[in-house]
Amino acid sequence: MDYQTFFKTSLDDLRDSGNYRVFADLERHRGNFPKAINRHDGGKRDVTVWCSNDYLGMGQHPKVLAAMHDAIDRCGAGAGGTRNISGTTHDHVLLEQELADLHGKEAALLFTSGYVSNWAALGTLASKIPGCVVLSDELNHASMIEGIRHSRAKCMIWKHNDLADLETKLKELPLETPKLIAFESVYSMDGDIAPIKEICDLADQYNAMTYLDEVHAVGMYGPRGGGVAEREGLMDRLTVIEGTLGKAFGVVGGYIAASSELCDFVRSFASGFIFTTALPPAVAAGAAASIRHLKESSVEREGQQARVAELRARLDAIGIPHTDNPSHIIPVMVGDPVKCKFISDKLMDDFGVYIQPINYPTVPKGTERLRITPSPVHTSEDLDHLVEALEDLWAQCQLARMPLAAQ
Ligand SMILES: *Cc1c(COP(=O)(O)O)cnc(C)c1O
Repeated sequence: MDYQTFFKTSLDDLRDSGNYRVFADLERHRGNFPKAINRHDGGKRDVTVWCSNDYLGMGQHPKVLAAMHDAIDRCGAGAGGTRNISGTTHDHVLLEQELADLHGKEAALLFTSGYVSNWAALGTLASKIPGCVVLSDELNHASMIEGIRHSRAKCMIWKHNDLADLETKLKELPLETPKLIAFESVYSMDGDIAPIKEICDLADQYNAMTYLDEVHAVGMYGPRGGGVAEREGLMDRLTVIEGTLGKAFGVVGGYIAASSELCDFVRSFASGFIFTTALPPAVAAGAAASIRHLKESSVEREGQQARVAELRARLDAIGIPHTDNPSHIIPVMVGDPVKCKFISDKLMDDFGVYIQPINYPTVPKGTERLRITPSPVHTSEDLDHLVEALEDLWAQCQLARMPLAAQ
């Protein structure tokens, strides 16, 4: 086989379908987010980032930065080993306590990313519990799907957020069969939210465990940033809550929070936990500072929600179609991969607005979109500029608009 030709033709096919991924080379500047510098064709330009998952700007928060600087000065750079072999530092222990407290659980277990936490925890639970059947929402994140697949456990996929379909599938299984219902709270591409209470009710009725990915909700919802389950008073009803330290908390890392026994079980059997170097202590200290701050402060959450409402209203006023949902994610639908990439390029080139196009396989073909994530650190001027840019491009590209709401 001519390997290079194989790689090249595969990439050419991807390009022809409009799905080739181009990374924007960014330089973030401390204290100046969402502004950044984009290096492009040997030059530099100023851009405003509108697609970051640093939803609250915590990646720039003085308390987070101070905690990280302090930890580097105290402990140096890396953890120096796996958690088992010399890599568990006191900062890791404190962070796990902070996370258990955040979710009202007995324990928490850290991983190097949210992806790894889903892959390792679901993979371990589903493979080690004899005869376990996983009931997985059809729109679950790739990390959950990979974990379930890796476990080789039987998996039943239920229609997205569809309680009747979930119940039909639960009914097909004997009551004594171990079951794990895996789902998310806020779905990141459509921004819709799962009926958590009703899913927990079904889990109780059919004797199933529940595994909730709150990656896009931790820090963002609930009086202490514990997620949608905290806001709805449901944390104690979930067997496992999984989250990330890389999105609203602004650092990096992933975790599960659950009973002591469950966390100890995953700690003891998950390859993806055991055989990898622990996060640097400075990362753990920064994440703990971020969580601690957001437990006490709602200013960031409120500021973010206000910006989201404002942008939605402004898009409605000029008829730009966006999916209505109860979360902070604003999907502006384009429905064509080439157009989606074209608009994104134009936003960057002509307006200094950075919104990455979201194409297949991240979303189904025909639902290509711009996913906009306003934050409390976007100013009114940033918002005006974004709305003008979108209005201009919608006219240039002759894209469909919604009928304007009666004023
Ligand atoms: C981003 C994401 C993850 C992975 O989290 P990382 O910390 O970025 O690895 C897991 N689940 C969902 C739903 C996500 O969107």
